[in-house]
Amino acid sequence: MIEVKDLSKSFGDHEVLRKIDFEVKKGEVICILGSSGSGKSTLLRCVNKLETQTSGQVLYHGKEIRNVQKEINEFRSRVGMVFQSFNLFNNMTVLENCMEGARKVLHVSKEEAFDRAIKHLKEVGMAPYINARPEQLSGGQKQRVAIARGLCMNPEVLLFDEPTSALDPEMVGEVLNVMKELASSGLTMLIVTHEMDFAKNVSSRVLFMDKGYVVEDAPPEEFFTNPKNDRSREFLSRFI
Ligand code: ADP
Ligand code: MG
Repeated sequence: MIEVKDLSKSFGDHEVLRKIDFEVKKGEVICILGSSGSGKSTLLRCVNKLETQTSGQVLYHGKEIRNVQKEINEFRSRVGMVFQSFNLFNNMTVLENCMEGARKVLHVSKEEAFDRAIKHLKEVGMAPYINARPEQLSGGQKQRVAIARGLCMNPEVLLFDEPTSALDPEMVGEVLNVMKELASSGLTMLIVTHEMDFAKNVSSRVLFMDKGYVVEDAPPEEFFTNPKNDRSREFLSRFI
């Protein structure tokens, strides 16, 4: 579905991503692990074109997404993103947050946008809060709304950048449970996370990043029991 080919990204003379190659197939749940500063967020941002790579390609169903606004917009409506800091519109209700993208970007009817919002808010357990504003919600609730909002775009792939890192510990589970449900429904997901149990139990593949390189790309059972790379071993030893 998505192919990242020989992708590099520099900010000035700081090379942040180096020659990255991987594929995302339909239905895969890929967890991206690695220390802070290893390039995980930049990689996700290059995958959905919030950043332009310095060299290399991102292919979507075999076709290169070129740096042309029309192509980028079209692609981005197929590839949603959920951020650590939720990024909800604070001046809108939960329902309005979920309807906005489908209305403004996809130009679906009000009825269709409403039906989608209700469906996905139910999925994440937030239907009782449709008239609430983000400030009235807990962090876990806000993140579940942000996930529902992403789903309302009917994405083919949903990208998550540390979706639970800003949450109080007692709220992490409710968000991970929603993501686990989505994984078993067959949604394709690319997830940057430090939740090792989630990566171990839910992912179909793990990418481990170090200093801008993907140094390991393996199924979780292999990565967690028999990491091939010294940096992966050192990283994992911190979580025991
Ligand atoms: P991670 O998400 O793994 O913590 P990031 O992708 O955020 O890593 O950052 C990787 C490196 O790129 C860091 O050294 C960071 O300072 C640098 N970086 C990220 N975004 C920018 C930017 N917009 N301008 C300059 N440097 C950046
Ligand atoms: Mg990051």
